[in-house]
Amino acid sequence: MNNIIYFDICAFIILAIFISSMLFKKQMRDRANTMLLILMELAAIATIGDFMAAYIENYYEASDVGMLLAYAANYLYFLAHNLMFPIYTLYIYATADIWHIYKQNKVTVCLWWGLVSLDIVLLIINHFTHIMFRITEDLEYVRGPFIIVYYLVAAFFGLWGLWIIIKYKDIVRHDKAVTLIILYPIIFSAIIIQAIWPNVLVEMLSVAVAVLFFMIVLQRHEYQIDPITGAMKYATSIERINAIFAMHKPITITFIKIVNHNNIRLYLGQSRYNDYLRAQTTALSSIAFRHNYPVDVFYLENGTYGFLSDDYDINNALPIAEEVKEHMSKPMDVDGFSVISDARICVVRCPEDVEDFSTIFTLATTFHETLGKINDVVLYAEHRNDRDFMIRNEMDEILLRALDNRSFEMYYQPIYSTTEDRFVSAEALIRLKDERFGFIPPGVFIPMAESSGAIHEIGDYVLDAVFDFIARNDLDELGLKYIEINLSAAQCIEVDLVDKILHMIATKGIDATRVSLEITETAANINPAIVDSNVHRLHDEGIRFALDDYGTGYSNIRRVTTLPVDQVKLDKSFVDDIDNPQMWIVIRDTIMMLREMGKEVLVEGVETKEVAERLIRVNTDLLQGCELIQGFYFCKPLPESEFIEFIKSRL
Ligand code: C2E
Ligand code: CA
Ligand code: CA
Repeated sequence: MNNIIYFDICAFIILAIFISSMLFKKQMRDRANTMLLILMELAAIATIGDFMAAYIENYYEASDVGMLLAYAANYLYFLAHNLMFPIYTLYIYATADIWHIYKQNKVTVCLWWGLVSLDIVLLIINHFTHIMFRITEDLEYVRGPFIIVYYLVAAFFGLWGLWIIIKYKDIVRHDKAVTLIILYPIIFSAIIIQAIWPNVLVEMLSVAVAVLFFMIVLQRHEYQIDPITGAMKYATSIERINAIFAMHKPITITFIKIVNHNNIRLYLGQSRYNDYLRAQTTALSSIAFRHNYPVDVFYLENGTYGFLSDDYDINNALPIAEEVKEHMSKPMDVDGFSVISDARICVVRCPEDVEDFSTIFTLATTFHETLGKINDVVLYAEHRNDRDFMIRNEMDEILLRALDNRSFEMYYQPIYSTTEDRFVSAEALIRLKDERFGFIPPGVFIPMAESSGAIHEIGDYVLDAVFDFIARNDLDELGLKYIEINLSAAQCIEVDLVDKILHMIATKGIDATRVSLEITETAANINPAIVDSNVHRLHDEGIRFALDDYGTGYSNIRRVTTLPVDQVKLDKSFVDDIDNPQMWIVIRDTIMMLREMGKEVLVEGVETKEVAERLIRVNTDLLQGCELIQGFYFCKPLPESEFIEFIKSRL
């Protein structure tokens, strides 16, 4: 009876497609992928050997060449086929992330090499003794007595692999374990079929089918796993969540934010920190696994992990979230360093709680701040109606709406001169009245606009509105020298800042000296080269500069001396503590120092008469009072018309 060789042809085609796709896709060259590639190449070679052997046996005339080819085909088959089993065992170690367990044990390494060598030695000996197989005169393949050793070695490697999967089932992801085990029944059935009908050569096809499973389930997965954290990669997670939203598939997402991740990194150093992240992924996976909760663990940078689960039942998600919380609060040992993670956890169901991708993404990055100091596991559903929470979550849309509808407005707070006893300037402060949420303070939306990038457009709006104000009003008539405008850190490093501002003041026909720009110390230090150049160029054109919030940062004296700032604004925190005699010395001497450096000094946040008078009265040999004061005691920030009215009434 002729051998049925079509199965081999099918097997070869399948393997060839996978090998080329793997090479072509330039997949991540981690150990598991390399092992799988070697496994597929060996299977392809064995298939060619098997096919050739069968072909020669069936269709070749008895001849010396035929004999030579038959031996060559069988050696090719045996060599490749024999190596497949040990490589598969290594593939299991690599895929299950327990390679180190294999490497650490000298006995297993020796056993592996010993058995592989035995197979090879037997094949070499076979050349002289035919103890494994031989080819008869009429090109028929006949088994030798030692072929059993070959089968035993293969079976041993098979059992070895099975044993690893079972032994480490708790730390191997469930779907991985199942897929790795699937190979066994498939190949076992093929062996039985081939034992009953020796001419039906299905074994290599069964290997190809098993590889198909690996490619679909495991390799796709491996490709998406970050080798450092062991969790689903950032890009993949975003892609997955996006796709899930697009398909309206119900899912539950649990965000786990380790708020002290920066401190942990500082404490451990980068390399141990990576180990820590990996250990957390393993711990999170095994918590979910213990609860039989189907999840993908992902990592979104900055200490944010997440569970993505098809299970829509909140009652299943909660106990796991609670256990994660408890796990995080316990010390974890990382290479002898004990780490306690401060985690915030939030459970969201989509689409019920959140329907769009951008909200879920904002939530992932901000929930630990928007939900304040809540230490328990938070159910998003219970908070989604809190006003503050909603505002912070919908900030992107709120800002877009405000920019479209121009619902921002500039307020002006008068600045009092103690030497001239009148108001000499004002600070422009932005206000936002949202149609849905009403007034939202700049202290809330400015930092969020800074992180989302909307600050540039807002900054442009502010410049435009205040320049218009200066153009519309005769400042001299109002007794005002200039108007102060806050520049955010992100604006200070805009490359086109200078051209933009100069162009705006030119088109609006205002004098550069009417403008004073407030920058903060943080801004000045972000990218000193660009900031210095921007500030110097604008200052050369006549624009004034003030250093805002002095005393809140590091009070870097060097920046005060290197940047051409005309004014320094002492932060409110100085005067808040003015009753403390030590602080009074600091305030007095700081003012003295800055004035000696030729800077105008402004004290912010003066709310009471006593404080104002104290600042006005401060009298030493060197210091005759503080020049400028800004605060609620004199006036709150006012809308344009009220501000003008107020200023005129005080002329
Ligand atoms: P800032 O630049 O330090 O502005 C001074 C803040 O102190 C203002 O808060 C002002 O209303 C408030 N203030 C003034 N006097 C007193 C007082 O006596 N007591 C108290 N408690 N507060 C006083 P506001 O308007 O809420 O602005 C907060 C911050 O938001 C500003 O701090 C500034 O950093 C930012 N901001 C405001 N408007 C703008 C803007 O147009 N552009 C940029 N980039 N940031 C802005
Ligand atoms: Ca300011
Ligand atoms: Ca300030």
